[in-house]
Amino acid sequence: MAQGRVALVTGGTRGIGAAISKRLKDKGYKVAANYGGNDEAAQKFKDETGIPVFKFDVGDMASCEAGIKAIEAEVGPIDVLVNNAGITRDGAFHKMTFEKWQQVIKTNLDSMFTCTRPLIDGMRSRGFGRIIIISSINGQKGQAGQTNYSAAKAGVVGFAKALAQESASKGITVNVVAPGYIATEMVMAVPEDIRNKIISTIPTGRLGEADEIAHAVEYLASDEAGFVTGSTLTINGGQHFV
Ligand code: NDP
Repeated sequence: MAQGRVALVTGGTRGIGAAISKRLKDKGYKVAANYGGNDEAAQKFKDETGIPVFKFDVGDMASCEAGIKAIEAEVGPIDVLVNNAGITRDGAFHKMTFEKWQQVIKTNLDSMFTCTRPLIDGMRSRGFGRIIIISSINGQKGQAGQTNYSAAKAGVVGFAKALAQESASKGITVNVVAPGYIATEMVMAVPEDIRNKIISTIPTGRLGEADEIAHAVEYLASDEAGFVTGSTLTINGGQHFV
């Protein structure tokens, strides 16, 4: 019953988020794609896909309230929320500034509150909702140089489990997808020799594709996934050393 349902994908104009936006649109959802600051990439995405784009900072409560209000007025009440927007600000912890810590926590963890809180009442009153969060293998296993990112990405799992319990009786499911290394711009920008070293640690012998993550999101958004809630779906080519 995807036809006509409204989906908001945060960070939905580039990388994994763009793949999710496109797949949901192809499956009949009315999609709104949020982004943070890269107007050029957002415009290109909008021109190519016809998906409307909405610029607001997912780490800022007032911006999210205004952005979500605009989406609900223009596209319709949001049935599916994909909390995908995320950033990294890497560095060894003993050298990390509090600013880098806070930037990552704001965008990757505060955004669970700022993007979900303004629309959950609507989902509860309509008796249907799908909230899907993009975490990371590095939140599961911890990654040197990413204490901030690992903390945020682990934090979203606790958030999902708690909110899943609160929301189940209202027809709302809350689930996490934890990708391993995916062939996005960020990963392709890593020097080839280092990338090849990473690939040698992945049992499938290759990077994941953004659409492989999007396919999982499509499933978790579906009516058929109504009994799946509070779960984490790990998609990492077999890197199960966590
Ligand atoms: P990209 O850097 O390719 O895209 C990030 C998207 O998020 C962009 O649309 C960007 O907007 C948006 N964004 C960033 N900050 C904000 C903000 N403050 N407010 C609103 N939007 C924002 O990321 P990926 O596709 O690589 O990653 C997507 C998600 O998947 C992230 O949560 C990431 O942590 C996670 N992930 C990625 C993996 C990978 O291998 N790539 C592996 C595991 C998890 P703009 O274009 O304006 O900057």
